[in-house]
Amino acid sequence: MKKIVLVGTGMVGMSFAYAALNQNLCDELVLCDINEKRAKGEAQDLNHGLAFSKTSMRIYAGTYSDCKNADIVVISAGVGQKPGETRLQLLQKNLEVFKTIVNPIVESGFDGIFLVATNPVDIMTRVTRKLSGFPNNKVIGTGTTLDSARLRYLVGEYFNIDPRNIHGYVIGEHGDSEFVPWSQLTLGTKPVLDELMDNEKYSMDDLVKIEESVRHAAYEIIEAKGATYYGIGIAICRVVRAILQDENSILTVSARIENTYGKLIPCKVYVGNPCIINKNGATRQIDLSLDIREMKKLSESCELLDKTFNELEF
Ligand code: NAD
Repeated sequence: MKKIVLVGTGMVGMSFAYAALNQNLCDELVLCDINEKRAKGEAQDLNHGLAFSKTSMRIYAGTYSDCKNADIVVISAGVGQKPGETRLQLLQKNLEVFKTIVNPIVESGFDGIFLVATNPVDIMTRVTRKLSGFPNNKVIGTGTTLDSARLRYLVGEYFNIDPRNIHGYVIGEHGDSEFVPWSQLTLGTKPVLDELMDNEKYSMDDLVKIEESVRHAAYEIIEAKGATYYGIGIAICRVVRAILQDENSILTVSARIENTYGKLIPCKVYVGNPCIINKNGATRQIDLSLDIREMKKLSESCELLDKTFNELEF
């Protein structure tokens, strides 16, 4: 019996829940939110689709005590940025929110895997690790999974290749300092940099534009429709499936970077990097063969995350 508890039934949480129902992702889905009425309404609404779905999933609004025997707790709860508020003030507020969530979940006896989507996701994942005291492998953030999916889609469009045959990642902070290590991206098995040399139709300038549009995708969507949620909802499903099915899939989740890339990176940082995901969570990080410039970008991104985390008052 696979059980998931979702904390935060806002746009992101419910996009995940809706995708989970359609993908028949688990046997039991519990919805928790500080707004209990909303969580109940969302459970009711989803349940009304069951008669037409391919699953007999049990969906109900619950409390943190329901986490006791859950396999995964997905956290997408958080407060939004108020006008005039700094990023750090917002972070401090979300830290207080997480104290009211993570502590009772741990007290419930929960022994599964935390999957965090709340932004800034790399910091909030590290916060969850610190508050829970869980082993590193059992605390994961969505990291740059969505960004990597956006990248593969755009590169696929550019070369007119199925995105599933584009192998490449966005790594680093899920945010402004994220980047694409182009030295690692392949079309099928052909390095994209070789394709640029072989075919003058394509250029590095265009790839840099693709990288920028991946980095700015969230801003663009927020400007157009207020928030982003479907893409991340499906990305959460992807990570959950890798855990529940014990897939050993490689995904760019936010996980602790310890013992990766030598001593060039602060080891306690949580950051988006390809990582093997199975029933034990983030099992092993992949050391990419980054070139010197890419290594510098990654280490700058990690230092920024480390500095921000250290400014928080616990
Ligand atoms: P939302 O405002 O629609 O939902 C947030 C929910 O959290 C609300 O239902 C609210 O009641 C609940 N909540 C607030 N405080 C709580 C508490 N103390 N306990 C329990 N529940 C509480 O926001 P959203 O659009 O769903 O976004 C949620 C988070 O996901 C944000 O931090 C957003 O930035 C982030 N996000 C992440 C990614 C990613 O790639 N990781 C992408 C998009 C959005």
